[in-house]
Amino acid sequence: MRWVRFLENGQAWWGELVGDTVLSQGRRRQLSELRLLPPAQPTKIVCVGVNYRDHAQEMGRKLPERPALFLKPPSALIGPDETIYLPNSERVDYEGELAVVIKERCKHVKAAEAHRVIWGYTCFNDISDRIAQSWELNWVRAKGFDTAACLGPILVSPDELPWPLTIETRVNGSVRQHSDTSQLIFSVPQILEEITSFMTLEPGDIIATGTPAGVGPLTPGDIVEVEISGIGVLRNFVARAA
Ligand code: MG
Repeated sequence: MRWVRFLENGQAWWGELVGDTVLSQGRRRQLSELRLLPPAQPTKIVCVGVNYRDHAQEMGRKLPERPALFLKPPSALIGPDETIYLPNSERVDYEGELAVVIKERCKHVKAAEAHRVIWGYTCFNDISDRIAQSWELNWVRAKGFDTAACLGPILVSPDELPWPLTIETRVNGSVRQHSDTSQLIFSVPQILEEITSFMTLEPGDIIATGTPAGVGPLTPGDIVEVEISGIGVLRNFVARAA
């Protein structure tokens, strides 16, 4: 199944997407006419650091023995076609990622059972202030500023996806990242086992699974797109924060 969250008359609604038609509250709407919202309402966003072999190579890092984790606050979340406001920094990067949305409250989930707690998958852009990241310990400024977490456009159930998934990031139409989930160092089930070994996940929580090679800077006026096979394109605009 495929779902969208959208804004109508000042309220947020969920709908099921069938073709280009959105079914919600007994009514049909055209997807193209809707203002989409991020397809999750997380209590937290848990992100995996270096988790693609090609990205580890590009950063000159050795492969981690356990997933490197950090958090983004829900206040950083924006949806498709919203604007990323760059903080005052010499270098702010895109990071195209596959996101997992959690279905039910869970803890101590074994990898073999992880599929039971996954609602679906969508695209994520982990916007990162590299200057702050280079000097601060826990990346609160580097990764937690407003608009630093782009999510969408639609949420897709795991059974509908053509694994392994290709992931591509484009800036102004030019391809900057192109990889697939076979490059993941830690699989989604392994990541879920690791996180839930110490933390309760709630329905709507987001796990961002890491970015492949090809990270690079954004500048005001850019249009950045993250496309994942079977999901679609997450597009965001880039501006300087006031
Ligand atoms: Mg990342």
